[in-house]
Amino acid sequence: QKCLNHIKKTVYLNAYITVTEELAMKQAQAAESRLRRGKPRGPLDGIPFSVKDNFCTENIETTCASQMLKGYIPPFNATVVQKLLDQGAVLLGKTNLDEFAMGSGSTDGVFGPVRNPWSYSSQYREQSDQDPESDWVITGGSSGGSAAAVASQSSFFALGSDTGGSTRNPGSLCGVVALKPSYGLLSRHGLIPLVNSMDVPGIFTRSVYDAATVLGILQGCDERDSTTVPTSNPVPNLPEDIDLRKIRVGIPKEYHAPGLSQETLSQWGRVADLFEKAGAQVQEVSLPHTQHSIVCYHVLCCCEVASNMARFDGLEYGHRSGVDSSTEAMYATTRHEGFNDVVRRRILSGNYFLLKQNYQRYFVKAQQVRRLISQDFAQVFRSGVDLLLTPTTLGDAARYCDFIQEDNRTRSAQEDIFTQSVNMAGLPAVSMPTALSRRGLPIGLQLIGKTFQDWNLLTVAHWME
Ligand code: GLN
Repeated sequence: QKCLNHIKKTVYLNAYITVTEELAMKQAQAAESRLRRGKPRGPLDGIPFSVKDNFCTENIETTCASQMLKGYIPPFNATVVQKLLDQGAVLLGKTNLDEFAMGSGSTDGVFGPVRNPWSYSSQYREQSDQDPESDWVITGGSSGGSAAAVASQSSFFALGSDTGGSTRNPGSLCGVVALKPSYGLLSRHGLIPLVNSMDVPGIFTRSVYDAATVLGILQGCDERDSTTVPTSNPVPNLPEDIDLRKIRVGIPKEYHAPGLSQETLSQWGRVADLFEKAGAQVQEVSLPHTQHSIVCYHVLCCCEVASNMARFDGLEYGHRSGVDSSTEAMYATTRHEGFNDVVRRRILSGNYFLLKQNYQRYFVKAQQVRRLISQDFAQVFRSGVDLLLTPTTLGDAARYCDFIQEDNRTRSAQEDIFTQSVNMAGLPAVSMPTALSRRGLPIGLQLIGKTFQDWNLLTVAHWME
Protein backbone atom coordinates (compact mmCIF):
# COMPACT_ATOMS: atom_id res chain seq x y z
CA GLN A 1 0.00 0.00 0.00
CA LYS A 2 2.88 2.34 0.80
CA CYS A 3 4.43 1.71 -2.60
CA LEU A 4 1.12 2.31 -4.35
CA ASN A 5 0.62 5.55 -2.42
CA HIS A 6 4.12 6.60 -3.35
CA ILE A 7 3.42 5.93 -7.03
CA LYS A 8 0.42 8.27 -6.77
CA LYS A 9 2.48 10.93 -5.03
CA THR A 10 5.17 10.81 -7.71
CA VAL A 11 2.87 10.54 -10.70
CA TYR A 12 4.55 13.64 -12.20
CA LEU A 13 7.61 11.45 -12.91
CA ASN A 14 5.54 9.58 -15.52
CA ALA A 15 7.42 6.41 -14.58
CA TYR A 16 4.46 4.04 -14.87
CA ILE A 17 2.22 3.40 -17.86
CA THR A 18 -0.05 0.97 -16.01
CA VAL A 19 -0.45 0.54 -12.25
CA THR A 20 -1.90 -2.85 -11.32
CA GLU A 21 -3.26 -1.74 -7.98
CA GLU A 22 -5.94 -4.34 -7.43
CA LEU A 23 -3.78 -7.25 -8.46
CA ALA A 24 -0.90 -5.96 -6.35
CA MET A 25 -3.06 -5.76 -3.23
CA LYS A 26 -4.31 -9.29 -3.79
CA GLN A 27 -0.79 -10.64 -4.26
CA ALA A 28 0.44 -8.70 -1.24
CA GLN A 29 -2.30 -10.11 0.99
CA ALA A 30 -1.53 -13.65 -0.11
CA ALA A 31 2.16 -13.06 0.60
CA GLU A 32 1.36 -11.56 3.99
CA SER A 33 -0.61 -14.59 5.04
CA ARG A 34 2.23 -16.90 3.93
CA LEU A 35 4.70 -14.82 5.93
CA ARG A 36 2.44 -14.84 8.94
CA ARG A 37 2.27 -18.62 8.80
CA GLY A 38 6.07 -18.61 8.65
CA LYS A 39 6.03 -20.09 5.16
CA PRO A 40 7.54 -17.59 2.76
CA ARG A 41 8.22 -18.85 -0.76
CA GLY A 42 11.67 -17.28 -0.79
CA PRO A 43 13.53 -14.03 -0.36
CA LEU A 44 11.25 -12.12 -2.75
CA ASP A 45 7.93 -13.17 -1.26
CA GLY A 46 5.84 -10.02 -0.81
CA ILE A 47 8.47 -7.70 -2.33
CA PRO A 48 6.95 -5.09 -4.68
CA PHE A 49 8.51 -4.67 -8.13
CA SER A 50 7.72 -3.21 -11.52
CA VAL A 51 8.33 -4.28 -15.09
CA LYS A 52 9.24 -2.35 -18.24
CA ASP A 53 6.29 -2.26 -20.58
CA ASN A 54 8.00 -4.33 -23.27
CA PHE A 55 7.68 -7.55 -21.26
CA CYS A 56 4.48 -9.50 -21.84
CA THR A 57 2.25 -9.72 -18.78
CA GLU A 58 -0.78 -11.98 -18.70
CA ASN A 59 -4.07 -10.05 -18.85
CA ILE A 60 -2.20 -6.75 -18.37
CA GLU A 61 -1.87 -4.32 -21.26
CA THR A 62 1.63 -4.33 -22.79
CA THR A 63 2.27 -1.34 -25.02
CA CYS A 64 6.01 -0.86 -25.69
CA ALA A 65 4.98 2.82 -25.32
CA SER A 66 3.72 2.64 -28.89
CA GLN A 67 0.44 3.51 -30.53
CA MET A 68 0.88 0.20 -32.34
CA LEU A 69 0.39 -1.90 -29.21
CA LYS A 70 -2.08 0.21 -27.26
CA GLY A 71 -4.77 -2.15 -26.07
CA TYR A 72 -2.66 -5.30 -26.60
CA ILE A 73 -3.31 -7.74 -23.75
CA PRO A 74 -0.92 -10.69 -23.85
CA PRO A 75 -2.27 -14.11 -22.89
CA PHE A 76 0.96 -15.09 -21.12
CA ASN A 77 3.76 -13.83 -18.87
CA ALA A 78 7.35 -13.40 -19.97
CA THR A 79 9.41 -16.14 -18.31
CA VAL A 80 11.27 -13.67 -16.09
CA VAL A 81 7.99 -12.12 -14.91
CA GLN A 82 6.48 -15.55 -14.24
CA LYS A 83 9.51 -16.57 -12.19
CA LEU A 84 9.12 -13.51 -9.97
CA LEU A 85 5.38 -14.05 -9.52
CA ASP A 86 6.02 -17.70 -8.67
CA GLN A 87 8.29 -16.45 -5.88
CA GLY A 88 5.49 -14.28 -4.49
CA ALA A 89 6.95 -10.95 -5.64
CA VAL A 90 4.21 -8.32 -5.98
CA LEU A 91 3.76 -6.67 -9.39
CA LEU A 92 2.98 -2.95 -9.02
CA GLY A 93 2.79 -2.07 -12.67
CA LYS A 94 4.35 -1.55 -16.08
CA THR A 95 6.92 1.17 -16.60
CA ASN A 96 7.47 3.80 -19.26
CA LEU A 97 10.11 3.63 -22.00
CA ASP A 98 11.14 4.86 -25.42
CA GLU A 99 8.89 3.41 -28.10
CA PHE A 100 9.90 -0.24 -28.62
CA ALA A 101 12.98 0.44 -26.44
CA MET A 102 14.62 2.51 -29.18
CA GLY A 103 16.35 5.47 -27.58
CA SER A 104 18.57 6.68 -24.75
CA GLY A 105 16.35 9.23 -23.08
CA SER A 106 12.94 7.73 -22.29
CA THR A 107 11.61 10.78 -24.07
CA ASP A 108 10.30 9.09 -27.20
CA GLY A 109 7.33 7.03 -26.06
CA VAL A 110 3.70 7.71 -26.86
CA PHE A 111 2.97 8.31 -23.15
CA GLY A 112 5.44 11.19 -22.89
CA PRO A 113 8.88 11.57 -21.31
CA VAL A 114 9.94 10.19 -17.93
CA ARG A 115 11.34 12.68 -15.41
CA ASN A 116 14.42 11.91 -13.38
CA PRO A 117 13.58 11.96 -9.64
CA TRP A 118 16.90 13.72 -8.98
CA SER A 119 15.46 16.78 -10.76
CA TYR A 120 13.59 17.43 -7.50
CA SER A 121 16.49 17.01 -5.08
CA SER A 122 17.36 20.11 -3.06
CA GLN A 123 20.90 20.18 -4.46
CA TYR A 124 19.64 20.24 -8.05
CA ARG A 125 16.99 22.86 -7.31
CA GLU A 126 19.49 25.11 -5.53
CA GLN A 127 21.71 25.40 -8.59
CA SER A 128 18.77 25.90 -10.96
CA ASP A 129 17.31 29.36 -11.48
CA GLN A 130 14.11 27.96 -12.99
CA ASP A 131 11.07 26.22 -11.59
CA PRO A 132 10.77 22.42 -11.67
CA GLU A 133 8.19 22.57 -14.46
CA SER A 134 10.65 24.02 -16.96
CA ASP A 135 13.95 22.66 -15.62
CA TRP A 136 14.14 18.92 -15.07
CA VAL A 137 16.51 16.24 -16.30
CA ILE A 138 15.91 13.05 -18.26
CA THR A 139 16.27 9.57 -16.80
CA GLY A 140 18.22 8.20 -19.76
CA GLY A 141 16.81 5.21 -21.52
CA SER A 142 15.22 3.34 -22.83
CA SER A 143 14.22 1.74 -19.48
CA GLY A 144 13.78 5.14 -17.81
CA GLY A 145 10.49 4.29 -16.11
CA SER A 146 12.01 1.30 -14.31
CA ALA A 147 15.07 3.31 -13.26
CA ALA A 148 12.88 6.14 -11.96
CA ALA A 149 10.65 3.67 -10.12
CA VAL A 150 13.63 2.28 -8.19
CA ALA A 151 15.37 5.65 -7.73
CA SER A 152 12.20 7.27 -6.35
CA GLN A 153 11.72 4.18 -4.15
CA SER A 154 8.23 3.34 -5.32
CA SER A 155 9.56 -0.11 -6.35
CA PHE A 156 12.12 -2.22 -4.54
CA PHE A 157 13.42 -3.53 -7.83
CA ALA A 158 12.45 -3.39 -11.48
CA LEU A 159 13.00 -5.19 -14.74
CA GLY A 160 14.33 -3.36 -17.77
CA SER A 161 15.78 -4.54 -21.04
CA ASP A 162 19.28 -3.92 -22.35
CA THR A 163 20.08 -4.15 -26.05
CA GLY A 164 22.70 -1.44 -26.31
CA GLY A 165 22.70 0.05 -22.83
CA SER A 166 19.04 0.61 -22.01
CA THR A 167 19.37 -0.68 -18.45
CA ARG A 168 22.84 0.64 -17.58
CA ASN A 169 22.31 4.09 -19.09
CA PRO A 170 19.21 5.06 -17.05
CA GLY A 171 20.63 3.22 -14.04
CA SER A 172 23.67 5.48 -14.19
CA LEU A 173 21.67 8.69 -14.67
CA CYS A 174 19.22 7.80 -11.88
CA GLY A 175 21.82 6.60 -9.35
CA VAL A 176 20.78 2.97 -8.95
CA VAL A 177 22.47 -0.40 -9.49
CA ALA A 178 21.76 -1.59 -13.05
CA LEU A 179 22.77 -5.07 -14.13
CA LYS A 180 22.97 -6.34 -17.71
CA PRO A 181 23.48 -10.10 -17.35
CA SER A 182 25.42 -12.26 -19.82
CA TYR A 183 23.50 -13.00 -23.00
CA GLY A 184 21.86 -16.38 -22.51
CA LEU A 185 21.76 -16.34 -18.73
CA LEU A 186 18.17 -15.05 -18.55
CA SER A 187 15.27 -16.02 -20.77
CA ARG A 188 14.07 -13.54 -23.38
CA HIS A 189 10.78 -15.37 -23.85
CA GLY A 190 8.05 -12.74 -23.67
CA LEU A 191 10.41 -9.79 -23.98
CA ILE A 192 9.18 -8.08 -27.14
CA PRO A 193 12.31 -8.17 -29.29
CA LEU A 194 14.37 -5.23 -30.43
CA VAL A 195 17.60 -6.96 -31.51
CA ASN A 196 17.27 -10.66 -30.73
CA SER A 197 21.01 -11.29 -30.85
CA MET A 198 21.71 -8.61 -28.23
CA ASP A 199 18.57 -8.23 -26.04
CA VAL A 200 18.77 -9.26 -22.39
CA PRO A 201 16.44 -8.58 -19.47
CA GLY A 202 18.10 -6.09 -17.11
CA ILE A 203 17.75 -5.66 -13.34
CA PHE A 204 17.47 -2.37 -11.41
CA THR A 205 17.99 -2.44 -7.65
CA ARG A 206 19.03 -0.26 -4.73
CA SER A 207 21.98 -2.50 -3.84
CA VAL A 208 24.23 -5.15 -5.38
CA TYR A 209 22.97 -7.67 -2.86
CA ASP A 210 19.42 -7.13 -4.15
CA ALA A 211 20.61 -7.48 -7.75
CA ALA A 212 22.24 -10.80 -6.85
CA THR A 213 19.06 -12.02 -5.17
CA VAL A 214 16.92 -11.20 -8.22
CA LEU A 215 19.52 -12.61 -10.62
CA GLY A 216 19.62 -15.85 -8.67
CA ILE A 217 15.90 -16.29 -9.18
CA LEU A 218 15.78 -15.26 -12.82
CA GLN A 219 18.77 -17.08 -14.26
CA GLY A 220 18.57 -20.45 -15.89
CA CYS A 221 17.67 -22.46 -18.92
CA ASP A 222 14.25 -21.92 -20.49
CA GLU A 223 12.92 -24.34 -23.07
CA ARG A 224 11.11 -21.39 -24.67
CA ASP A 225 14.39 -19.56 -25.38
CA SER A 226 16.92 -21.70 -27.19
CA THR A 227 19.73 -19.23 -26.45
CA THR A 228 19.57 -19.80 -22.69
CA VAL A 229 22.16 -21.97 -20.97
CA PRO A 230 21.95 -24.22 -17.90
CA THR A 231 23.30 -22.66 -14.71
CA SER A 232 24.77 -23.95 -11.52
CA ASN A 233 22.47 -24.89 -8.68
CA PRO A 234 22.31 -23.72 -5.95
CA VAL A 235 22.89 -20.05 -6.59
CA PRO A 236 26.17 -18.81 -5.09
CA ASN A 237 26.09 -16.30 -2.22
CA LEU A 238 27.94 -13.03 -2.55
CA PRO A 239 30.97 -13.20 -0.26
CA GLU A 240 31.18 -10.37 2.27
CA ASP A 241 34.90 -9.92 1.76
CA ILE A 242 36.94 -10.08 -1.36
CA ASP A 243 40.71 -10.09 -1.70
CA LEU A 244 41.35 -7.58 -4.46
CA ARG A 245 45.03 -8.48 -4.60
CA LYS A 246 44.08 -11.31 -6.90
CA ILE A 247 42.15 -9.07 -9.29
CA ARG A 248 43.37 -7.34 -12.43
CA VAL A 249 41.29 -4.37 -13.56
CA GLY A 250 41.59 -3.08 -17.14
CA ILE A 251 41.04 0.54 -18.14
CA PRO A 252 40.28 0.64 -21.88
CA LYS A 253 42.17 3.56 -23.33
CA GLU A 254 39.70 4.01 -26.22
CA TYR A 255 36.98 4.84 -23.69
CA HIS A 256 38.51 8.29 -23.18
CA ALA A 257 35.87 9.29 -25.71
CA PRO A 258 35.05 12.71 -27.09
CA GLY A 259 32.28 14.28 -25.01
CA LEU A 260 33.30 12.54 -21.77
CA SER A 261 32.69 15.06 -18.99
CA GLN A 262 35.49 16.20 -16.70
CA GLU A 263 33.56 15.07 -13.66
CA THR A 264 32.94 11.56 -14.98
CA LEU A 265 36.57 11.32 -16.00
CA SER A 266 37.74 12.28 -12.55
CA GLN A 267 35.37 9.79 -10.85
CA TRP A 268 36.71 7.11 -13.17
CA GLY A 269 40.24 7.96 -12.05
CA ARG A 270 39.25 8.14 -8.40
CA VAL A 271 37.67 4.68 -8.39
CA ALA A 272 40.59 3.20 -10.34
CA ASP A 273 42.85 4.57 -7.57
CA LEU A 274 40.63 3.00 -4.91
CA PHE A 275 41.01 -0.37 -6.62
CA GLU A 276 44.76 0.09 -6.67
CA LYS A 277 44.90 1.09 -3.01
CA ALA A 278 42.93 -2.04 -2.12
CA GLY A 279 45.61 -4.11 -3.78
CA ALA A 280 44.15 -4.72 -7.24
CA GLN A 281 46.38 -4.47 -10.28
CA VAL A 282 45.05 -1.70 -12.48
CA GLN A 283 46.35 -1.50 -16.02
CA GLU A 284 45.56 0.22 -19.28
CA VAL A 285 44.16 -2.07 -21.98
CA SER A 286 43.17 -1.58 -25.59
CA LEU A 287 39.88 -2.37 -27.34
CA PRO A 288 40.90 -1.11 -30.77
CA HIS A 289 37.59 -1.62 -32.58
CA THR A 290 35.61 0.54 -30.13
CA GLN A 291 35.53 3.38 -32.66
CA HIS A 292 33.34 1.24 -34.95
CA SER A 293 30.92 0.07 -32.31
CA ILE A 294 28.17 2.68 -32.71
CA VAL A 295 27.94 2.36 -36.49
CA CYS A 296 28.19 -1.41 -36.32
CA TYR A 297 25.48 -1.60 -33.64
CA HIS A 298 23.14 0.59 -35.64
CA VAL A 299 23.48 -1.38 -38.87
CA LEU A 300 22.77 -4.64 -37.05
CA CYS A 301 20.04 -3.09 -34.92
CA CYS A 302 18.19 -1.67 -37.93
CA CYS A 303 18.40 -4.99 -39.80
CA GLU A 304 16.93 -6.94 -36.90
CA VAL A 305 14.34 -4.20 -36.29
CA ALA A 306 13.23 -4.30 -39.93
CA SER A 307 12.66 -8.00 -39.59
CA ASN A 308 11.12 -7.92 -36.10
CA MET A 309 8.66 -5.14 -36.82
CA ALA A 310 7.20 -6.98 -39.80
CA ARG A 311 4.81 -8.76 -37.43
CA PHE A 312 2.98 -5.50 -36.66
CA ASP A 313 0.75 -5.47 -39.70
CA GLY A 314 -2.57 -4.44 -38.21
CA LEU A 315 -3.90 -8.00 -38.24
CA GLU A 316 -2.38 -9.86 -35.34
CA TYR A 317 -1.58 -7.31 -32.64
CA GLY A 318 -2.84 -4.00 -31.35
CA HIS A 319 -3.62 -1.09 -33.63
CA ARG A 320 -5.44 -1.40 -36.97
CA SER A 321 -6.08 1.57 -39.22
CA GLY A 322 -9.61 2.31 -40.40
CA VAL A 323 -8.40 2.55 -44.01
CA ASP A 324 -9.65 -0.57 -45.78
CA SER A 325 -9.51 0.31 -49.48
CA SER A 326 -7.01 -2.54 -49.93
CA THR A 327 -4.92 -4.85 -47.75
CA GLU A 328 -1.78 -2.97 -48.82
CA ALA A 329 -3.32 0.36 -47.84
CA MET A 330 -4.40 -1.04 -44.48
CA TYR A 331 -0.87 -2.33 -43.75
CA ALA A 332 0.71 0.95 -44.78
CA THR A 333 -1.59 3.26 -42.85
CA THR A 334 -1.55 1.02 -39.77
CA ARG A 335 2.24 1.17 -39.69
CA HIS A 336 2.27 4.89 -40.45
CA GLU A 337 -0.14 5.60 -37.60
CA GLY A 338 1.31 3.02 -35.24
CA PHE A 339 5.06 3.75 -35.25
CA ASN A 340 6.87 6.96 -34.37
CA ASP A 341 9.53 8.37 -36.67
CA VAL A 342 12.43 6.71 -34.78
CA VAL A 343 10.95 3.27 -35.37
CA ARG A 344 10.02 4.02 -38.97
CA ARG A 345 13.50 5.34 -39.73
CA ARG A 346 15.09 2.16 -38.37
CA ILE A 347 12.75 -0.05 -40.38
CA LEU A 348 13.58 1.86 -43.56
CA SER A 349 17.34 1.79 -42.89
CA GLY A 350 17.25 -1.90 -42.02
CA ASN A 351 15.41 -2.83 -45.17
CA TYR A 352 17.91 -0.78 -47.15
CA PHE A 353 20.89 -2.58 -45.55
CA LEU A 354 19.22 -5.91 -46.29
CA LEU A 355 18.54 -5.25 -49.98
CA LYS A 356 20.16 -7.91 -52.14
CA GLN A 357 22.71 -5.44 -53.52
CA ASN A 358 23.56 -4.04 -50.03
CA TYR A 359 23.48 -7.15 -47.89
CA GLN A 360 27.19 -7.98 -48.17
CA ARG A 361 28.32 -4.39 -47.92
CA TYR A 362 26.34 -3.54 -44.79
CA PHE A 363 24.86 -6.49 -42.95
CA VAL A 364 27.62 -9.03 -43.50
CA LYS A 365 30.31 -6.38 -42.98
CA ALA A 366 28.71 -5.31 -39.69
CA GLN A 367 28.60 -8.95 -38.56
CA GLN A 368 32.33 -9.19 -39.23
CA VAL A 369 33.05 -5.99 -37.32
CA ARG A 370 30.90 -7.29 -34.47
CA ARG A 371 33.16 -10.34 -34.31
CA LEU A 372 36.23 -8.10 -34.11
CA ILE A 373 34.69 -6.04 -31.30
CA SER A 374 33.93 -9.19 -29.40
CA GLN A 375 37.44 -10.54 -29.99
CA ASP A 376 38.92 -7.34 -28.54
CA PHE A 377 37.32 -8.22 -25.19
CA ALA A 378 38.32 -11.88 -25.44
CA GLN A 379 41.92 -10.90 -26.04
CA VAL A 380 42.03 -8.56 -23.05
CA PHE A 381 40.51 -11.20 -20.78
CA ARG A 382 42.88 -13.83 -22.13
CA SER A 383 45.80 -11.61 -21.15
CA GLY A 384 44.83 -12.07 -17.49
CA VAL A 385 42.55 -9.08 -16.93
CA ASP A 386 39.52 -10.04 -14.81
CA LEU A 387 37.24 -7.12 -15.45
CA LEU A 388 37.09 -3.67 -17.00
CA LEU A 389 36.26 -0.39 -15.29
CA THR A 390 34.70 2.28 -17.55
CA PRO A 391 32.25 5.15 -17.41
CA THR A 392 28.62 4.21 -18.13
CA THR A 393 27.60 7.47 -19.79
CA LEU A 394 29.44 10.53 -21.07
CA GLY A 395 28.22 12.71 -18.21
CA ASP A 396 25.33 13.28 -15.82
CA ALA A 397 21.72 13.59 -17.01
CA ALA A 398 20.83 16.19 -19.64
CA ARG A 399 18.06 18.71 -19.13
CA TYR A 400 14.98 17.61 -21.02
CA CYS A 401 14.76 20.87 -22.93
CA ASP A 402 18.39 20.52 -24.10
CA PHE A 403 18.06 16.84 -24.91
CA ILE A 404 15.18 17.34 -27.31
CA GLN A 405 16.63 20.54 -28.81
CA GLU A 406 19.98 19.88 -30.34
CA ASP A 407 20.62 17.06 -32.72
CA ASN A 408 18.91 14.63 -30.42
CA ARG A 409 19.46 11.53 -32.58
CA THR A 410 23.20 11.97 -32.76
CA ARG A 411 23.48 12.67 -29.09
CA SER A 412 21.27 9.74 -28.32
CA ALA A 413 23.49 7.44 -30.41
CA GLN A 414 26.70 8.78 -28.84
CA GLU A 415 25.42 8.18 -25.34
CA ASP A 416 25.82 4.45 -25.91
CA ILE A 417 29.53 4.48 -26.68
CA PHE A 418 30.49 2.69 -23.45
CA THR A 419 27.64 0.21 -23.41
CA GLN A 420 26.92 -1.10 -26.91
CA SER A 421 30.09 -3.16 -27.46
CA VAL A 422 29.21 -5.14 -24.35
CA ASN A 423 25.92 -6.25 -25.95
CA MET A 424 27.64 -7.16 -29.19
CA ALA A 425 30.02 -9.36 -27.19
CA GLY A 426 27.28 -10.79 -24.92
CA LEU A 427 29.20 -9.91 -21.74
CA PRO A 428 27.81 -9.14 -18.28
CA ALA A 429 28.13 -5.55 -17.03
CA VAL A 430 26.84 -3.52 -14.15
CA SER A 431 26.49 0.22 -13.71
CA MET A 432 27.24 1.39 -10.18
CA PRO A 433 26.23 4.72 -8.65
CA THR A 434 29.51 6.38 -7.78
CA ALA A 435 29.12 10.06 -6.89
CA LEU A 436 27.03 13.16 -7.38
CA SER A 437 28.04 15.82 -9.89
CA ARG A 438 28.23 19.52 -9.06
CA ARG A 439 24.64 19.76 -10.31
CA GLY A 440 23.63 17.21 -7.68
CA LEU A 441 23.02 14.46 -10.25
CA PRO A 442 24.30 10.85 -10.14
CA ILE A 443 27.41 9.71 -11.99
CA GLY A 444 27.75 6.00 -12.67
CA LEU A 445 30.67 3.77 -13.54
CA GLN A 446 30.50 0.44 -15.32
CA LEU A 447 32.19 -2.87 -14.53
CA ILE A 448 32.39 -5.33 -17.43
CA GLY A 449 33.03 -9.02 -16.71
CA LYS A 450 33.83 -12.23 -18.57
CA THR A 451 30.97 -14.15 -20.18
CA PHE A 452 28.87 -16.03 -17.62
CA GLN A 453 31.00 -14.72 -14.76
CA ASP A 454 28.15 -12.54 -13.59
CA TRP A 455 28.66 -13.63 -9.98
CA ASN A 456 32.31 -12.62 -9.92
CA LEU A 457 31.29 -9.32 -11.44
CA LEU A 458 28.72 -8.73 -8.70
CA THR A 459 31.24 -9.69 -6.02
CA VAL A 460 33.54 -6.89 -7.15
CA ALA A 461 30.59 -4.51 -7.60
CA HIS A 462 29.60 -5.27 -4.00
CA TRP A 463 33.06 -4.15 -2.90
CA MET A 464 32.56 -0.89 -4.83
CA GLU A 465 29.37 0.01 -2.93
N1 GLN B 1 19.96 3.47 -27.24
C1 GLN B 1 20.08 2.23 -27.93
C2 GLN B 1 19.09 2.19 -29.06
O1 GLN B 1 18.40 3.13 -29.26
C3 GLN B 1 19.89 1.09 -26.97
C4 GLN B 1 18.50 0.61 -26.84
C5 GLN B 1 18.32 -0.52 -25.87
O2 GLN B 1 19.25 -0.98 -25.21
N2 GLN B 1 17.10 -1.01 -25.80
O3 GLN B 1 19.02 1.25 -29.80
